[in-house]
Amino acid sequence: MPTVLVLNSGSSSLKYQLVDPGSGEVLAGGVVERIGEGTGRVAHEVAGEEVSREQPVADHGAALRLVLDLFEEAGPSLREAGIAAVGHRVVHGGTSFTAPVVVDDDVVEAVRGLVPLAPLHNPANVTGIEVARELLDVPHVAVFDTAFFTDLPPAAATYAIDAGTAAEHGVRRYGFHGTSHQFVSSAVAEHPAVTAMLAAAGREPGTLRQVVLHLGNGASASAVLGERAVETSMGLTPLEGLVMGTRSGDLDPGIIFHLVRSAHLSVDDVDTLLNKRSGLLGLSGVNDMRELTRLVGDGDPDARLALDVYLHRLRKYVGAYAAVLGGIDVLAFTAGVGENAAHVRAGVVEGLEFLGLAVDRERNEAGSRASRVISPAAGTPLVMVVPTNEELAIARQTIALVAP
Ligand code: ADP
Repeated sequence: MPTVLVLNSGSSSLKYQLVDPGSGEVLAGGVVERIGEGTGRVAHEVAGEEVSREQPVADHGAALRLVLDLFEEAGPSLREAGIAAVGHRVVHGGTSFTAPVVVDDDVVEAVRGLVPLAPLHNPANVTGIEVARELLDVPHVAVFDTAFFTDLPPAAATYAIDAGTAAEHGVRRYGFHGTSHQFVSSAVAEHPAVTAMLAAAGREPGTLRQVVLHLGNGASASAVLGERAVETSMGLTPLEGLVMGTRSGDLDPGIIFHLVRSAHLSVDDVDTLLNKRSGLLGLSGVNDMRELTRLVGDGDPDARLALDVYLHRLRKYVGAYAAVLGGIDVLAFTAGVGENAAHVRAGVVEGLEFLGLAVDRERNEAGSRASRVISPAAGTPLVMVVPTNEELAIARQTIALVAP
């Protein structure tokens, strides 16, 4: 069976997985961290065993060479695994990339051309593609985080600022985490409980109204009608929308001018403040939901407020998206927090009973890893937990392009 090597290049990290796109099996995977810093680390996992090494890793080229060496040493051998292609996660595809593409020199230049729109993400994505093309002589495919949202209705994609300035500088809502929102919303649409619900009401699949909450370190919401995304919470950049681990999400843009003028922060200072020192971390001192939950349990008032702000924002978005969709059939939770933190799921739904939303306590707290319904047996709309798998989605989109 042909396999796909999925690469996710961050500014100082390289995450990878060797995936069988047919079965979904992960043959090996891992992460190189602290690339370009004094002390690097690689952790390679194969068949439940982890092989790790601490050593300086000069750049992304060195990181990928290290990964390829580990595949040869710890297995599986990439030569024997028969990799058919490499799938690259690319954060920003602008308006040019509405679907995955096979990478050639023009694609690399176009992704580089989008760096002004995504200065924190696209440079690493370009580097990752360049070094992988040098080292792995197979087709390379770029899968864009924005692609699922390129077809947002104009009313949702447009910011109400001077139209000429917006057009000149590409200012619009692009949306991110699209691979995950697309994967989860199609898994929801195919779930037997959902098809049965539509069939019982005599409704077509195209009328299914879903709100998907991707709650990881980054977090985003989307409203999906049938197979089409009609709203999403991230905008020009991944900073807009929900409260995240270290990002503020929505705020009054006037705060930025105020901090520049009154606190004499530079633009880069504000960028770092809002992207890296805000969100749960800024409010409570921790960005990890597990630690935050522990602090709340210990009666820490800052942690309590952080969780309240986080949940309040989520409830506002679910209510707003129910309005955008004209009702809600499924509320789906995914990613690290969404899949694991039962108290967050219960906290989001609490107060939204007027939309018909409810969770069954036992179902919500069952520690299952499968896609499942957590609302009470008889009720609609459905509340669901649907594990995301961005690597598998990238592997499948990659193989569909190179070996249709
Ligand atoms: P990323 O955006 O980095 O891919 P993930 O989707 O892995 O993030 O989500 C990371 C978040 O998930 C962290 O805040 C982590 O605390 C949270 N998380 C993971 N497991 C649990 C758990 N069992 N209970 C609560 N939160 C969890």
